[in-house]
Amino acid sequence: LLGEAAHLQRLVDDAKAIVAFCGAGISTESGIPDFRSPGGIWSKMEPITYQEFMASEEVRLEDWRRRFMLDEIYSKAEPNIAHRVLAHLVAEGRSPGVVTQNVDGLHQRAGLSPEYLVELHGNATYAHCLDCREPFTLGEVRKMIEAKGESPRCPDCGGFIKSAIISFGEAMPEHEMRRAFELANECDLMIVLGSSLVVHPAATIPLFAKQSGARLVILNREETPLDDVADIRFSGEIGALLSALFPELSGGGQGK
Ligand code: NAD
Ligand code: ZN
Repeated sequence: LLGEAAHLQRLVDDAKAIVAFCGAGISTESGIPDFRSPGGIWSKMEPITYQEFMASEEVRLEDWRRRFMLDEIYSKAEPNIAHRVLAHLVAEGRSPGVVTQNVDGLHQRAGLSPEYLVELHGNATYAHCLDCREPFTLGEVRKMIEAKGESPRCPDCGGFIKSAIISFGEAMPEHEMRRAFELANECDLMIVLGSSLVVHPAATIPLFAKQSGARLVILNREETPLDDVADIRFSGEIGALLSALFPELSGGGQGK
C-alpha cells in the first residue's frame, strides 16, 4: 500500500483540476451495498426498468416497496473518507466538480456543495412527477400510498410519481450529461472511484477524459473494461488508500 499511496499522492499533488468519477463502490464502506459485488441485495432482485414501471400498477407498488426499504439503509448510512476527500478537494479549489452515479445523497451530507455535484443517475432521497417534475418527499409519497392503496399520482397533472433516480431504460438527464463531459474535458486528472464501469453511457465519461488529455486513475477492487486505457489502476480498498493520503480526514464524525 505504501508504494501505491505514494504514487497516487504524487499524481494528486501534480494535478491542477481533479475530477472524480464515482460509483457505488465508494459507499460500500458506509454500509450501502453496491450493485454487482457478490451477495449484494441486487444479486437477489432484478432492477425494475422504466418501461416496466410505466406499464404496471403492481410493478409501481413493488418499486415503492423497494424504495422505502433502501431509504432505511441510506438514511442510516454516514458519509465516509471518500465522500469527505471529494468535498475537501472541491472546497480547496483543487476540483471543479464531482461526477457520480450514486443516488444515496452521501456526497451532499459530507458537505459537497450541490452546485459542484453532477448526479448522472438522479437521487433516491426524493421523488418527482414524471410529467411536470413537481418534487415530493418520500414521506408525502408514503402517505399518498397509505391513503389510497394505489401508486401515487401527481395532484397537479395526474402523472406518475417516481423516485428521482434514473431507472434502466429512462432517458439520461441532459444537463447533467453535458456538465459531466465538460468536467471530463476540463480536468487534468480523472480518478474513477468504485465503479465497475459497465453501465453506459455513464462509463464513456472517463474514456472521454483520457481522450481529452487527462491522466486516468482507476481505484476499484475488481477489474474494469477501462483498465488498459488507464495510466494506473489500484485494486485495494478505497478507504485505506485515501486514509493514507488524507490522514487528517480519516477520523469519523466530521462528515456532517
Ligand atoms: P457497481 O456495483 O457496478 O460497481 C462497484 C464497484 O466498486 C465494483 O467493481 C466493486 O468491486 C468496487 N468496490 C466496492 N467496494 C469497494 C471498496 N471499498 N474499495 C474498492 N472498490 C470497491 O456500481 P456502479 O459502477 O456505480 O454501477 C451501479 C449502478 O447502480 C449505478 O448506476 C448506480 O446508480 C446504482 N447504485 C447506486 C448505489 C448508491 O447510490 N450507493 C448503490 C447501488 C447501485
Ligand atoms: Zn405533475
